[in-house]
Amino acid sequence: MKKVIMIKYGELTTKKDNRNFFINTLVKNIEKVLSSFNPVILKDYFRMFISVEDIYIDECTDLLSKVFGILEVCICYFSEDKRIETICDISKSLVSSGVTFKVQTNRSDKSYPVPSMDISRSVGSFLLRNVDNLSVDVHNPQVLVNVEIRKEGVYIYNKGIKGSCGYPTGSLGKALLMLSGGIDSVVAGYLTMKRGVRLDFLYFESLPHTSLEARNKVIELAKVLKKYGNNGKLLVVPFTKIQESIYRDLDNQYMITLMRRMMYRIGQRVAKKRNCLALVNGESIGQVASQTLTSIRVVNDVTNYPIIRPLASFDKIEIMDMARKIGSYDISILPYEDCCTIFVPTHPVINPNLDHARSEEEKFDFSLIDEAIENILIIDLDKESDEEENYL
Ligand code: ATP
Ligand code: MG
Repeated sequence: MKKVIMIKYGELTTKKDNRNFFINTLVKNIEKVLSSFNPVILKDYFRMFISVEDIYIDECTDLLSKVFGILEVCICYFSEDKRIETICDISKSLVSSGVTFKVQTNRSDKSYPVPSMDISRSVGSFLLRNVDNLSVDVHNPQVLVNVEIRKEGVYIYNKGIKGSCGYPTGSLGKALLMLSGGIDSVVAGYLTMKRGVRLDFLYFESLPHTSLEARNKVIELAKVLKKYGNNGKLLVVPFTKIQESIYRDLDNQYMITLMRRMMYRIGQRVAKKRNCLALVNGESIGQVASQTLTSIRVVNDVTNYPIIRPLASFDKIEIMDMARKIGSYDISILPYEDCCTIFVPTHPVINPNLDHARSEEEKFDFSLIDEAIENILIIDLDKESDEEENYL
């Protein structure tokens, strides 16, 4: 019996005029993810059907469950023959003796002569007659026998696998994720991609105070997000001179505040250059001194660019749970120093003063920012090679 994968669309079903654009973006993303399986994809306004060789069907289903824009992935039996006897025969292979079940019919082919309720009833009574110890449970059945009758044939399937929901990545533009090696920022990136946004990654590095292992960790985290259908580049900013200069010449208690103001300045300029419409980071209100509302306001003062903070209101425990589900947690907890954890003052300010931050910066040589941007290293995560590039 021929098997086909059926995709049920996620939130894009709320779109009217733009729905085809979202569906077409989803098709492109699926083609990329399944490129080595030669999929044949059939799509319409409500469903997508994907054929691959039967031996790859479980692997492809698993990959599809990670693609944003999908509510459910179902493995279906398909038959061009839509006679009720055929439907009954196929349905029999979904149930086994002793289970509870329910039959549910959807008839998009309105020319089919039998109404949906009658099909469900016929299939249900056939199953009760032909399989031992079956019982019907309309509220919480163990097996849900779905019968979908369409022009080209009938699809019969049990409950599917939950998809990642959201919008197809890339359907809502591109943003720049400030990606550190920690737990939070990669989760913030995942949640942003889930809303249809594709990402480039920006990593601030302070060699030799931080190590190349720390950079490799960030590369691995960016690759985790790549598995969810992102193909952005990793941009590594040489941040050493800026950090050393703040540490040497400016108020030490304001180290983190001033450093983050520099990060935002660089982030905004790189974002514009890369056609990214917003910056994304892993800030969560109150998590550390630099993430109190006062700190966020003082740091945000340097830019009017949109800053997306998907984790603003999540607890650390919730963020860690998400990281485990995404598959980034074990990489994030590897013990390499981040540039934020070095040069940390003993008592970082919790409520920094904006005027003080501004006046401290009068002592700062802003050409260091131009220099850092000019020396950004671009890493292509597909080719796994580095290209030195003069940037702005
Ligand atoms: P994370 O778990 O992502 O490291 P955090 O809880 O350690 O976050 P901070 O160090 O205050 O928090 O950083 C807040 C956010 O700033 C991070 O989530 C990230 O988006 C960004 N950030 C911090 N350090 C870097 C860095 N070295 N490169 C790029 N972005 C960074
Ligand atoms: Mg961090």
